[in-house]
Amino acid sequence: MSAPPSGPRESGPRDDGFVQAVRDAVDLVDLARDYTQVEKRGARYKGLCPFHKEKTPSFSIDPERGLYYCFGCGAGGDAIRFHMQLTGDDFPLALESLARRFGVPIPERRGDTSGVQEQSRVLEAAAEFFVRQLDRHAAPLEYLRRRQVPSEAYRALGVGYAPDAWRELLGALQGRFSEQLLESAGLVARSAKSGRPYDRFRHRLVFPIHSTSGRLVGFGGRTLGDDPAKYVNTAETDSFRKSQLLYNLHRARPKIRESGRVLLVEGYFDVLGAQLCGIDWVVASMGTALTEQQAKLLSRYAGEVILGYDGDRAGEEASRKALRILLRSGVAVRRARFPAGQDPDSLRLEEGPEAVRGYVDGAVDALELELARRGPETVADPRLRAAAAGELRELLEVVPDTVLRYSYGERAARHLGLPVEVFWRSRGASSAVRQGAAEPAEANVAPEARSSMEARILHLLLWLGRDALGARELPAADLFGDADCRELYRAFAAAVEADGMHGGDEQGPALDAALVQQGLPPASSAQGLLARLLAAPPEGVRDGEALTLLGTLAAKGALVRQRALQAELFAAQERGDADRVEQILAELAELRRRRHGARR
Ligand SMILES: [Zn+2]
Repeated sequence: MSAPPSGPRESGPRDDGFVQAVRDAVDLVDLARDYTQVEKRGARYKGLCPFHKEKTPSFSIDPERGLYYCFGCGAGGDAIRFHMQLTGDDFPLALESLARRFGVPIPERRGDTSGVQEQSRVLEAAAEFFVRQLDRHAAPLEYLRRRQVPSEAYRALGVGYAPDAWRELLGALQGRFSEQLLESAGLVARSAKSGRPYDRFRHRLVFPIHSTSGRLVGFGGRTLGDDPAKYVNTAETDSFRKSQLLYNLHRARPKIRESGRVLLVEGYFDVLGAQLCGIDWVVASMGTALTEQQAKLLSRYAGEVILGYDGDRAGEEASRKALRILLRSGVAVRRARFPAGQDPDSLRLEEGPEAVRGYVDGAVDALELELARRGPETVADPRLRAAAAGELRELLEVVPDTVLRYSYGERAARHLGLPVEVFWRSRGASSAVRQGAAEPAEANVAPEARSSMEARILHLLLWLGRDALGARELPAADLFGDADCRELYRAFAAAVEADGMHGGDEQGPALDAALVQQGLPPASSAQGLLARLLAAPPEGVRDGEALTLLGTLAAKGALVRQRALQAELFAAQERGDADRVEQILAELAELRRRRHGARR
């Protein structure tokens, strides 16, 4: 596995005595029971491996030596490594977490002020501060009352409040922690103009965010005012990497393992809402698109993921992106289809907990939904049918389990009215494309990488304004492949039309943010993207960066189009559609000509 081997070398300033004390104190069998069921067999314990999917146990623990080994996937090591592999904690964190759990006193760090322990302490202190403020202010309590969240529910999540001021948290913690520490913990930002520090969270409900092992690593804040950034998070730090965290996983983990399934929602309030409906096996991806790491994390605890994204177009799109990633990690995927415009929490308020539970229990197999989206009109039209077969085959190819993959393929083929060999043979088209494409590596750019480039461009445009593009005309919106990026870019371009949006810099966004915001559907995920991009200025901006990135994006767009054409070419040749073949070849030649032209 990718985690580095554990050893005293990595223990930093700690002495080896502490490492040994932790090794001696940890009960590996007890620890393993958090993740899988193990039974005693002779001198050893055996069970299903928590590191890979299996039906017959090949995971084995030697309790005397404190070592584990899996005969199926080769994972192995001691308790510290076990913890690191399953939680993503690094060595020092794993030590601390295990020390706490098995009652080993943790020595003070020597002279290391930016250490993990200090960061934990400052975050804990901030969490206490936020909770205290919640009880002292009417606005957050009134807000929670309006959303019908009983106090036990928000207290259980440790929800707090950041007051509507610039230096409240700073003032409260300054005596105990250095400004530098507050800044490195992601709680405090610094004014670009004056260099003065200020609270990152202001007039927000604050949700503490924990790592899988239960360590406080950051906060998410929801505005209670009219800040266009509806949600703001702690700045990314070494321990706070949003793409590797799932909100509420550390709390829900036992329930998820017990039930074998997990409800995946978008945000903090969806988690709260689901819990209030009696669904305590719920986690949130915190507004971002689901990442590979998050999917892997889920697949360790649950065999089935129920997608509970918002019942709107953005939620639909996010679900389909998540489906692809989840299938690859080997879990079954179902989708709760909330009514249009509803998320789990709004549905709870409007129709009550039973309704939410009903939608979740009635969640439909996500692949069946993908089939259903391709209705009779698809099957009737040869070209649509070929395209659908290609898309579905691509989606199913990544399912790791052979039997499952075959069964789904059979279903898909039947749905499209194709013999199953023909369905899988649409594979031929894609390998032909790979051979034909001039730059396969580039054409196969992961969608995530593409959309992060698109988001970077938008980040630059929003902060630097239209001037970031120099004299270049505004490009067409369909250059952006990611739906949210496209929507946000459209709103940006419209705002430029309306007021010019000149003269921004890294001190503050150029545009009238409200103008862009008005151009987006309310409560859409594009709004969330806008909020994230406005939360902090782009870092490390290079000269002409936006222009360069746009050029790259255009080139990639052409390659994607080329791939699609080549796939279609294959289908057109097979059915003997000479006219279409002609058209496709002409367009391919044009694309090639433009690409070579652009290089000169
Ligand atoms: Zn294994």
